[in-house]
Amino acid sequence: MKNIIFIAPPAAGKGTQSTLLKEKYCLAHISTGDLLRKASLEENERGHYIKDCLKSGKLVSDEITLDLLTERLKQEDCKNGFILDGFPRNLDQVLAYEKLLEELQIDLGYVIFLSVPKELAEKRILGRETCPDCGAVFNDQIEGSKPKVPGICDVCGTHLTKRKDDNLETFSIRYDTYMEHTKPLIDHFEKLGVLYTVPSIDRDETFKMIEKIIKD
Ligand code: ADP
Repeated sequence: MKNIIFIAPPAAGKGTQSTLLKEKYCLAHISTGDLLRKASLEENERGHYIKDCLKSGKLVSDEITLDLLTERLKQEDCKNGFILDGFPRNLDQVLAYEKLLEELQIDLGYVIFLSVPKELAEKRILGRETCPDCGAVFNDQIEGSKPKVPGICDVCGTHLTKRKDDNLETFSIRYDTYMEHTKPLIDHFEKLGVLYTVPSIDRDETFKMIEKIIKD
């Protein structure tokens, strides 16, 4: 199975689609947001710096993000293929990633752009609940995305939590950061001939469209 990269604005459904793909195709799910949230809990200078970035909605330095990603990519479960959720997020990260792939002899794979109107992403942010253990994402405001038991993860049974950066103020900064730094990557991947655009309006419809791409 080829690797998959999701490029999308905040709350477009990268995490949701990654969880569905991980379950069905046994791919490793690598969310740089999750890696950074975990690293932000460390009581040291790096942990405090990451915590501040996450709280403000700004990007963490490329160096730290790449270090965490490189370490993760070397783990055994990535050998069958992996999903990158939240990386790369700017052109420097793309260039560094392309170099890393060469070193580790890994294929770029598919790049899937999940497109979603800003208003819908904003609505999703407000109802989003995340599993702190397995990273699965739910939404208590959107039919079809609610957990089976309110507040409990369908996948592993852990109590769901709300992310600290899921508020309107931070969303607006994350969205602007996406427009300025991440959206331009679409052109780059289009030129390489690896880009697929999928509207992310309905979870199951979107998943079917992604399956069609990766099975062709
Ligand atoms: P969302 O896509 O909904 O914003 P993520 O979990 O992907 O959620 O990211 C949350 C935060 O983690 C970002 O706002 C940013 O501060 C940080 N982050 C995630 N991925 C990266 C990355 N590739 N480079 C720098 N910072 C990142």
